Amino acid sequence: MLTKSQLADLLEEHGQPAYRATQILDWIYQKRARSWDEMSNLPTALRTALAEKYPLRPLTHTLTKGSADTTRKFLLQLPDGRYIETVLIPASPALYGEKSDRHTLCVSSQVGCAYGCKFCASGLDGFTRNLTAGEIVSQIILAEELSGEKVNNLVFMGMGEPLANFKNLCEALEIITSDWGLHIGARRITVSTSGLVPQIKKLAELPQQIRLAISLHGPDDVTREKIMPVNKKYPVAELFDALRVWNTNKNQKITLEYILIDGVNASLDHARILTKRAQSIKAKVNLIPYNTVEGLPWVRPDDAACLRFKKILTNGGVSATLRLEKGHDIDAACGQLRLKKEKGAV
Ligand code: SAH
Ligand code: SF4
Repeated sequence: MLTKSQLADLLEEHGQPAYRATQILDWIYQKRARSWDEMSNLPTALRTALAEKYPLRPLTHTLTKGSADTTRKFLLQLPDGRYIETVLIPASPALYGEKSDRHTLCVSSQVGCAYGCKFCASGLDGFTRNLTAGEIVSQIILAEELSGEKVNNLVFMGMGEPLANFKNLCEALEIITSDWGLHIGARRITVSTSGLVPQIKKLAELPQQIRLAISLHGPDDVTREKIMPVNKKYPVAELFDALRVWNTNKNQKITLEYILIDGVNASLDHARILTKRAQSIKAKVNLIPYNTVEGLPWVRPDDAACLRFKKILTNGGVSATLRLEKGHDIDAACGQLRLKKEKGAV
């Protein structure tokens, strides 16, 4: 999968006129060609040369879990035989209000993850490799083909830490947002990160108005360190400094993701500190009752405790949602993606 400028360079190398770039982009991203052979207005020699180096379809669909009207999880195989998962979440009145026609896709950015957060299935097997920009973008193209639906909302909340794959993420974002590419509005794209401070600052400089979500999960260093090892490197105060930089450059609210884990981060004191933190950067908060992960010890608080936690935030003027996770039953809640196929358990 190529960006416009990469394609222009490539065509120049092949001594081709510049207008070919427009033709090829149209074939790839608008007509959704499955092979270079389909590009009937290109010279055969060029098609053959490009086909050898640039496969149009790097992902193979191997399995779908879930049904047409619920969350669907697609298991996709990479050219090197590894697997990733992509989750399509249909419009949800609970999440988005009655009239929403959103089709949200939760994409992966890496195979595995190196950050080892204690609540997260993706980190359990460690890090294998970064996805290429093409492998990121192909998840959208394939999900649209498999579902027959147009993806109009995108979250980088699948497997991996997107900001640890910064260059490929930026390339993918360019393809996804450009009018010559998938043309999905930047405001409908959310990049979620465990809090890589330097990359947050770099991302704040991108021209696109993409949204940022932070996996916070602990409002103070002591709590957060128990849950997220990355906090040792980038403590809460530093993280919030970076978020203030983001706020100066961008004009939409940051979302703080906060998984409620019984006996770990879900006390009313935690709620009060979180309220102050959210107020300090005018962030919204997404509360997510913990989904049990096989092999990990924690459990979610009961509903009443979750509601009490939320009440403290809303009383403090912080906009908070208590997320009704979809897809829990098929292990497809974002962040629950795991390489089951490789373990032979699908
Ligand atoms: N690496 C990035 C993107 C992955 S998304 C990041 O950490 O932000 C990770 C998100 O998935 C978490 O913030 C959380 O919202 C969700 N998640 C992960 N494990 C979960 C679990 N066991 N229960 C509920 N949500 C979970
Ligand atoms: Fe990696 Fe994000 Fe999971 Fe942490 S929460 S292990 S950073 S995918």
